[in-house]
Amino acid sequence: MKIRAPAKLNLYLRVVGKREDGYHLLDTVMVPVSLYDELEIRRPRTRRRGKARLTVTCDHPLVPSGRGNLVYKAASRLLRSRKIGSPIDIHIRKRIPVGAGLGGGSSDAAAALVGVNRFFRLGLKRAEMLTLAASLGADVPFFVRCRAARVRGIGERLEAVAAMPRLWIVILYPKFPVSTRWVYENYPCKLTKDIGNTSINFSWKGPEEITSFLVNDLEAVAIRRYPLIGRLKRRLLEEGAAGALMSGSGSSVFGIFSTGQQARNVFQRLRSDERVEAFLVHTLS
Ligand code: ATP
Repeated sequence: MKIRAPAKLNLYLRVVGKREDGYHLLDTVMVPVSLYDELEIRRPRTRRRGKARLTVTCDHPLVPSGRGNLVYKAASRLLRSRKIGSPIDIHIRKRIPVGAGLGGGSSDAAAALVGVNRFFRLGLKRAEMLTLAASLGADVPFFVRCRAARVRGIGERLEAVAAMPRLWIVILYPKFPVSTRWVYENYPCKLTKDIGNTSINFSWKGPEEITSFLVNDLEAVAIRRYPLIGRLKRRLLEEGAAGALMSGSGSSVFGIFSTGQQARNVFQRLRSDERVEAFLVHTLS
């Protein structure tokens, strides 16, 4: 069985507080996009010796196979909670760049929960799945739901946002990862005024309205250390993007275009730029 795990982009990201345990509190709008990893779940071809019930492999050099992979944690927790003893193999084909602020690891974990649930017909209720997802990582519940959402706190406050039109987007990955931890450690303590209880009027009519609230508090920290991120953002704007922003804690940058044709043309031009890997995507509704 094959299952797709989409990437996400943050259209809006404010750091609104810091807990005593060091976790930053966020107010962010995330949207899934049509760039996917693929998970393949199957029964082992040969009989396995010993106790290994679950194997997880991945084709990307920066992503661990086995227990270090978030997919392993997700699948083993679900299998254990349902006392499933039959062995399975999960193989991950990475397409989403790693350490790019595109949420690949969290999305793979969510896809593992959804996939294993389907594979063994476990009939897990949505609420149970979301609880399990939250225990794996802040962004995992978002990927289980897989719809544009406003996410607050450390990821536990998830709220659907109004349906948005399909947006055409070019993502540029500068071929290096940025450590999420490093970005938060270097984020200056100055926080955005707490807007936790206010309702923000996100207007989704079209690309122009959406780009009017594009903001990412983490961008300046990342750009100071990696100026290429800033240059790529400028390049997208020069190419006619209605708006451009770094996603999450970086390193990737995206540009939103008014039409699919314009996005395609820009993608064709930028894909030959040796500094980047370029992706043409649209938002998923
Ligand atoms: P985020 O924006 O969610 O903080 P990111 O998109 O910048 O994260 P990921 O690509 O999710 O970063 O990977 C972050 C780290 O997680 C990497 O160091 C990677 O080795 C580890 N990791 C563990 N499992 C996975 C997986 N299935 N896919 C990708 N990375 C994984």
